[in-house]
Amino acid sequence: MNVILFSLDTLRADRLSCYGHSRPTSPNLDAVAAQGAVLTEYFSPHIPTYPGHTSMMTGRDIYTTRVTGQSGTPELCADVPMLAELLKRQGYFTAAADNLGRWFQRGFDVYEGYSWDTSAATSWRKAEAVLKPALSVIDQAAAQDKPFFVYLHFWDPHTPYLPPAPFDRMFYGGDEKDPANRSMDPVWQFENFKWYFNEWMPGVTDIEFPKAQYDAEIAYLDACLAHVFARLAEKGMVEDTLLAITTDHGEELDEHGCWFDHHGLYEPNTRIPLVLRLPGRIPAGARAPGFGRSIDLTPTILDFAGLLDPALRFEGSSMRPMLEAPRAGVFQTSVSRGTCDVVHMTENTWMKKRALRTHEWKLIVGLEPDIHGFPAEELYHLTGDPAEQVNMARELPEVTRRLRGWMEDHVQHRVAETGLPDPLPLQPIPLKRVGKMEQSVPKDEPAPPPADEKLRDGDFVGYERDNE
Ligand SMILES: [Zn+2]
Repeated sequence: MNVILFSLDTLRADRLSCYGHSRPTSPNLDAVAAQGAVLTEYFSPHIPTYPGHTSMMTGRDIYTTRVTGQSGTPELCADVPMLAELLKRQGYFTAAADNLGRWFQRGFDVYEGYSWDTSAATSWRKAEAVLKPALSVIDQAAAQDKPFFVYLHFWDPHTPYLPPAPFDRMFYGGDEKDPANRSMDPVWQFENFKWYFNEWMPGVTDIEFPKAQYDAEIAYLDACLAHVFARLAEKGMVEDTLLAITTDHGEELDEHGCWFDHHGLYEPNTRIPLVLRLPGRIPAGARAPGFGRSIDLTPTILDFAGLLDPALRFEGSSMRPMLEAPRAGVFQTSVSRGTCDVVHMTENTWMKKRALRTHEWKLIVGLEPDIHGFPAEELYHLTGDPAEQVNMARELPEVTRRLRGWMEDHVQHRVAETGLPDPLPLQPIPLKRVGKMEQSVPKDEPAPPPADEKLRDGDFVGYERDNE
């Protein structure tokens, strides 16, 4: 069995039409989804990009990987294997189109990078730049006489949202600079990001515009993915090839004041898509209920490949029982059909937080004051308030205490299991200032000095740490 893993960076589940979005953002991806399974309750427990991809491709949580954030995070230990290393050991040909480098290139026979032209102010053709190495590694994989693992990393819905024509007007027909529109006012008042936003979308007054451009980026990406899907069909790589299409984290648009970025452990960032296609093994059109997590993906892929070795001791579990044809002909609806019923989440972005998500509740706890001045504890009743708008932490102290107890027990349990300290309080918040637009996407660069240096005058951050 072959494996092709797509990571479509920054793609939140609910903006895909196959997940119910009202705009037709993803017709080509929807067609693949119709041939396979869609996981409707799938989460990225560790955000942003580095921990998101590391948990996706190791099957392990941050307490094992120690990768909590972006720059300044330590390298992944050599004794924690990446999926490509595990499959290569089993005789697979491994090839990737990716630009993260560092430990993400471990185990690949072929690792092709890419970059795109960032000089244009209004249009970046990111997916086309990735398409070239993506098709190249697919061709190389098809020429092998052994099974292959191909990994493709696309970036289009990541900021700045600058879809090329005609996608740039696909979902927006108004005047985005209408002086009478005040809907962007709160965004322009957000000190930490306003300089970046001004470089990206100067003079925009209508908040519906960047939201439409986010969707347009997905539509542009989807059109480029059609070339990949067509190449797979041409090469006879549909049967006996597991396709896994997912992301590392989602994106906040205008839900919680974390505008157009992926910080915050709210649903838009943590509820992510997963489409799995394996003809004959995964029923077409299936909607798998129950929780799944990024840390479950590596064990799931190995399980379908017949290579899941208990000695690997993943923190995630195989989702194969959720996905294969059920005996009764329909999927059960019991919540216990997922790999877990409680998801433990962390972020080390602009803020340092932990969250615990059950089917009914989410508790978010800040380890340090955050850039927005959000409360240190937020409790949301997800079944009654799925948009996480009403913080009930003070109103329901018993629920808050119970969930907080579970959260702290989990951390203590993991610290005892690993024999290593909790990495989250030890690793500083890596993001302190907004860079230039062309640096917005992480690249394979040497780690900068630890981010606990003193801030200089003129660095715009919204808070200072207690010890500074
Ligand atoms: Zn990312």
